[in-house]
Amino acid sequence: MATTSSIDAILSLSKRKGFVFQSSEIYGGLNGCWDFGPLGVELLRNIKDSWWKAMTYRDDIVGLDASILMHPRVWEASGHVGQFSDPMIDNKTSKARHRADNLIEDYIGRLRTKGKSADADKVEAALAAASSNDDLYRIIVDNAIPDPVSGTTDWTEVRNFNLMFETHVGPVADASSTVYLRPETAQGIFVNFKNVMDASRLKPPFGIAQIGKSFRNEINTKNFLFRTREFEQMEMQFFIKPGSEDEWFEYWRQERWNWFLSLGVSQDKLRRKPHERLAHYAKAAEDIEFAFPFGWGEVEGIHSRTDFDLGRHQEYSGKKLEFVDTVTKDRYTPYVIETAVGATRTFMAVLCNAYEEETITAEDGTTDQRVVLRFAPHLAPVSAAVFPLVNKDGMPEAATAIYTSLRKSFRVDYDTSGAIGRRYRRQDEVGTPFCITVDGQTISDGTVTIRDRDTMTQERVSADALDEIIRRRLQHSSR
Ligand code: ATP
Repeated sequence: MATTSSIDAILSLSKRKGFVFQSSEIYGGLNGCWDFGPLGVELLRNIKDSWWKAMTYRDDIVGLDASILMHPRVWEASGHVGQFSDPMIDNKTSKARHRADNLIEDYIGRLRTKGKSADADKVEAALAAASSNDDLYRIIVDNAIPDPVSGTTDWTEVRNFNLMFETHVGPVADASSTVYLRPETAQGIFVNFKNVMDASRLKPPFGIAQIGKSFRNEINTKNFLFRTREFEQMEMQFFIKPGSEDEWFEYWRQERWNWFLSLGVSQDKLRRKPHERLAHYAKAAEDIEFAFPFGWGEVEGIHSRTDFDLGRHQEYSGKKLEFVDTVTKDRYTPYVIETAVGATRTFMAVLCNAYEEETITAEDGTTDQRVVLRFAPHLAPVSAAVFPLVNKDGMPEAATAIYTSLRKSFRVDYDTSGAIGRRYRRQDEVGTPFCITVDGQTISDGTVTIRDRDTMTQERVSADALDEIIRRRLQHSSR
């Protein structure tokens, strides 16, 4: 029987096995920041590679790597200076700060856990209808929502808190030198729209894709990698002719859904959530959500944004950001379909999706427990592990030769310590899809066993064929 488990179990495995560590842990940690360890960095890289291939190995999308620091006017044009804020409320007793909407959402969750669904529905409806900080304040006060820290209900009013991190360029820290750490990667794409179009000789419909770090001074960080202050995003802006946005929105919502399936994420842990309220410029928006152990949470947003972004940058920069068709003389500011996914949030979804605690029954009826990370093979941090069955009779030499040869093409582990069953368990726990064992027969006929992580079955194959077998299986998984 298999069970999936809580964030705590996943957090503890992450640290123990070197997927993710708390940032600056020896100094007590820095809230909202995490470090990716030796296995985590491989998994994250594989997820990013998979996205990069899906988005740019085609003839209508090109890549970009824009700088994190940008001209401050960019963030005025984009609306981030004026509006990129969350509603914040302070508790006067504990001095704890909360995002007002999250405080209400958590309260709704508690009502539901207690079976008070009618009350929960009422508060949820009020939250959906809330259009101002005052509305949020009234919901908190009218329902006497307590501070989770002090249990009291003495609240300040709700006010806006801008999520952008400020810093300064150059040696003088004054208002004229203020710049921001980018809170999203998208603006680097918008401001380079014309550069990329001219340099690549592309015409709409075409897209620009980028992977990079983003920073948001989130009021509350929580749930491990879900909401952090430093994270990585993978965004693509697809520039199209006005009038074709519905068709392209539909295309991208399918493509992006299918990408999550290609990562091995089970369909029943994914759902689509169309936005109920749209920004004034938006024509459509939908999130893809994943069933995290704490509940459903957004992993990606797909947005039909009209010509809002390019239009704003034209207005603020005074530069034309249009496409001119030299044949038809058609001239327009392209509309944009945006796909915005968190690389680090997807990492967490992939980890939660893969994690299983399983009781396995041997042929003799004895049972054993195993933790297994069922990563899609192409995402696994280590593709294969090589073991000599015993450390004598030429087996270590044969195993080392196989390991050295496979290591040229794949991330491979070599393990000689403990009984073979224990070595399999260690690899299961980090999600290695294939374990290769060199035994007595290898010495006589050059064959080895290859054991599958999920079915735990073993096949005997020629050691010479291993490279090809592993390559084929990884390729098959990435389709
Ligand atoms: P949320 O509502 O969860 O704050 P958002 O709607 O503001 O997210 P976008 O601005 O659309 O998110 O960003 C696109 C993606 O970037 C999100 O779907 C998510 O995967 C990721 N992301 C956004 N904020 C964070 C964060 N603080 N930590 C980790 N990932 C994030």
